[in-house]
Amino acid sequence: MNKAFLALGVLICMPFASICTKKTNYPAKDKLEYHLSWDGQSSTLKVSLDYIPANKDSTVFIYGSPEFGGQTDIFKIVQNINCNSSDSLKINSQEHQITIYHSDVEPKRINYEINGQLVNNPKRAIYDELFRPVITEKTMYMVGCFFMMNPTEQKVSSFSIQWDSFPEHFPYFISTEPESSPLKKQIITMSKKEEVLFVMGPDLLINKYSVHGIPYYSITSKRDTMNNLSSELMPFFKSYFPDIRDFWQDDHAPYYYICTLPLFSTNQSMAGGFGCGPGFMMKYTGKFDDWNKKIIAHETAHNWIGQTMVLGKNSFEHQWFGEGFNDYVMLLNLIKSDMIDQTGFLHYLNTDMFLKHYTSPAREAKNDSIAPNYWRNDDYEKLPYRRGFIFAFYLDNKIRMASEGHQSIRDVLLALLEKNREIRSADPCANLSLNDFITITAYYLPHEQLQQEIENYLIQGNLIDFRNVKLIREFKVNYRNDVPVLEISDNINLKKSFSW
Ligand SMILES: [Zn+2]
Repeated sequence: MNKAFLALGVLICMPFASICTKKTNYPAKDKLEYHLSWDGQSSTLKVSLDYIPANKDSTVFIYGSPEFGGQTDIFKIVQNINCNSSDSLKINSQEHQITIYHSDVEPKRINYEINGQLVNNPKRAIYDELFRPVITEKTMYMVGCFFMMNPTEQKVSSFSIQWDSFPEHFPYFISTEPESSPLKKQIITMSKKEEVLFVMGPDLLINKYSVHGIPYYSITSKRDTMNNLSSELMPFFKSYFPDIRDFWQDDHAPYYYICTLPLFSTNQSMAGGFGCGPGFMMKYTGKFDDWNKKIIAHETAHNWIGQTMVLGKNSFEHQWFGEGFNDYVMLLNLIKSDMIDQTGFLHYLNTDMFLKHYTSPAREAKNDSIAPNYWRNDDYEKLPYRRGFIFAFYLDNKIRMASEGHQSIRDVLLALLEKNREIRSADPCANLSLNDFITITAYYLPHEQLQQEIENYLIQGNLIDFRNVKLIREFKVNYRNDVPVLEISDNINLKKSFSW
C-alpha cells in the first residue's frame, strides 16, 4: 500500500525493488566485511568496512537508496567518513559518492558513522522512521541500505556483517537468520543484500509460531502499552497465514517474520510498512485497528504477488497487478479466515475502492503516467491499488460466470505462479510479461476481448462501467452519483461463495 492519507492515518507500501543478481564466481580474495558497533545509548552506529580494492587506483562507493521511500537527503546521515591514512578520500554528496584513492593494493578499511537520530517531524514520522534508520537510547532499527556502501565495481558474491561491540542482553532480530545473535557473523550472498533488516533493544518481544510447519516470527515492542499486540496478531498466525499458503498451494519457505513496532515521533494514528525479504516491516501509532490489520494482510500477501511474481520490466510497470491484484487476494483470504465479515467486505469494496477510485482526480490517468508521479502525487500513488483491485474483482466475476462457478481468479493466479517458476528456473532474473498474463487468463476467457479490456481499463485507464457488467448471482451493482455501489443478495454466505 502507499501513503494513503485517510481519516485514521497513513498507509504506505514500497514498490519492490528489483533484487536479482546473477551468480558469478569471483576470486576468493575479494571481500566486503561490515563491522558494527553500538553502545546501546547513542544515536550512531559505527561501521568499519573491510574490502580489497577491485582496481589499483581507486574504489568508488555509492551510499544510500534515495528511491527507498523517496528519501532524497539520505546521504546526510553518513558521517565522519575516513579511510586508511595512506589513501585519500573524496566525497561527492550530489552523486552520493565516496571515492577512495589508493596508494597500494593492500586490504583496505573505510570507517563511517550512521546517524540514526530521530528527525522528529510528527507529520512525516512514518516516512522518517521507516525509510531512515532509527537509533535512539536502547533502540536500533536498521535496514541494509542504511549502513551499507555499494562499490561501483562489484567483485564479491557475498558480504559479511559482524558486531564488534553491542549492548549485552538486548533482544536482537536479524532478518537473514532469525534465531541468530549479534555474536554470530552473518555471511550473506549479494543477491540478498536488500533483505537485510535488524532490530535491537530491551523492549523487543520476539515470538515464534509454526504455520504449516514453517517457522513464523513476530517482533513487537513493549513500548506499546495501548494495545496487546501479541493477541491482536494471533488470528494471522492461526488462520490468515495458513489460509494464504493454502490459496497459493505453497508451503515452501524456510521462515517468515513480521516486525511491528511503534513510532516515536507522533501520537497521531498512522501506520505503514514494506516487504523485506521473507518478511515485512511495519510501524504504527495509536489503536491497532482493522486498518492496521489490513496493512499486515496486504504486506504479507506480497510474498507472492509483488515479491515472487512481478509483471513487467519492474514492479512499477504494472502496479495494477503488483498492488491491486495483491489487495484482492488479501481480501479473499481475509474472508476465508473470518477476519472480515460481509459488512467489512462491502465497506472495503464500496468506500475504499469504488468511491475513492471513481471520484479520484487521477482515475483515468494512463498506466504509464503512474511511475513518474508516484512519490509526488497522492492520487497517483493510490491509483494502481484501486484500479487493479477493481479489475481483479471484475475478472474474478467474469471467470466465475464463464465457468459456471467452477473456476475463479485463483486458477489464473496459480497458473501464473507456475509459469513464473518455469521462467525463473531458466533465468532467475526474468519477470512475467503482460503477454504471459493475457495468455494464461485467456484459458478462461475469450482472448481478443480480454486483450481489448486490459488495454482499455488497465493501460489506457478508462473506468469500467459496471452498469453493463454481469456479476455472479450473489452481487448486484447500482450507481449513485456515477459511482458503482455493490450490493449482496440476501441469505448469501460470502465465505462459501469465495471458498476454494
Ligand atoms: Zn503493496
